[in-house]
Amino acid sequence: MMEPLTLQSPVWQRWHDRWRHRFTEWQTWRRHLHRHPELAFQEEATATFVAERLRALGLTPQTGWAKTGVVASITGTLGAGPTIALRADMDALPIEEANTFAHRSCHPGRMHACGHDGHTAMLLAAAETIAAEPDFAGTVVFLFQPAEEGGGGARVMVEEGVLDAFAIDEIYALHNWPGLPVGTFAVHTGSVMAGTKSFDLTFRASGTHAAMPHLGADLIVAASQFVTYVQSAISRRIPPTEAAVFSVTQFHGGTAYNVLPDRITLAGTVRAFSDATMLHIIETATHLATAIAASVGAETEWRWHDGYPPTVNDATAAENAARTAVTVVGAERVLRDQPPSMGAEDFAYFLQKRPGAYLWIGNGPGEGGCVLHNSRYDFNDAILPLGAAFWWRLVRDRLASEG
Ligand SMILES: [Zn+2]
Ligand SMILES: [Zn+2]
Repeated sequence: MMEPLTLQSPVWQRWHDRWRHRFTEWQTWRRHLHRHPELAFQEEATATFVAERLRALGLTPQTGWAKTGVVASITGTLGAGPTIALRADMDALPIEEANTFAHRSCHPGRMHACGHDGHTAMLLAAAETIAAEPDFAGTVVFLFQPAEEGGGGARVMVEEGVLDAFAIDEIYALHNWPGLPVGTFAVHTGSVMAGTKSFDLTFRASGTHAAMPHLGADLIVAASQFVTYVQSAISRRIPPTEAAVFSVTQFHGGTAYNVLPDRITLAGTVRAFSDATMLHIIETATHLATAIAASVGAETEWRWHDGYPPTVNDATAAENAARTAVTVVGAERVLRDQPPSMGAEDFAYFLQKRPGAYLWIGNGPGEGGCVLHNSRYDFNDAILPLGAAFWWRLVRDRLASEG
């Protein structure tokens, strides 16, 4: 049996007493998912597990959204009203799990190192409690999304028309956050996760004998200058109040002791909280690379790859979600001043189309490697009922039921 979380709020206490008998079962679901991680767009067994649980509640899940996504809805008994969607991501990461507990991954080289097992179990638990009390006006949609980790499952679901098919008005997501205490939520107004792009940059020129550098171009020196100076350029060209990351993560060139090579390739990633800043970073880096290359008679070629756009919460939706979190855990446990993360998140695609908010739920201290994308990470089962209670209450708050 999980340790029950001690919180003073009457909403939590009532919900806790009503559902405590289910906590162990929900934990079993979470650990089952943890043991059987599946990578992006391959969440077949996970989708089957989710659909079975939803059917057991009397719902009619639609499978096959974005290949392995599952969507179900409940319309309340109090008549017409808005439609809100709650989203959980389902995919795991290509990481070999270092944990040794009984529910460690049984698939070599794959693990739930971002807690999407927990998000999925949390939303299933929420569906159970919401289905048990359908006295609300409007509709709640449960979105179980594949491929958050780089595959952009959210973008595929949006392109397939899930928002219109279910007439979704607002959309919310929860992500566990190691480093924030159990029992807390963090709600950002505006940017919460960064936008990202990656790049390949090639410097090209005529190579030469290393003993006669004046007969060609020394691209090793030129590309090195770019790598060191780009940090100054970014910090001098982007307003200091804007977060901007430009990281060179690969530097390839040269094959011999005595040859200055005719090409150097760099690669890396860029992060920003707005499209405007992203563009500004790209322009700054492009100018710099062109100027350095020109100074040695070299040419540059960039290839840019789109990552996820910035995740930006709608101010009103963030306020709604924060108010709900306060009723569940108390005002002192709802953090409104956390800095956003430079990590990226494909929930951004939903927020480009509908108002909504992406919240963090504290996963505990994050000690011993229990941080996101670490081989020793594990979702904290103690927060599973808390996330479910938040979802349940959000539906009741947004869809105007009695309490
Ligand atoms: Zn992740
Ligand atoms: Zn994640």
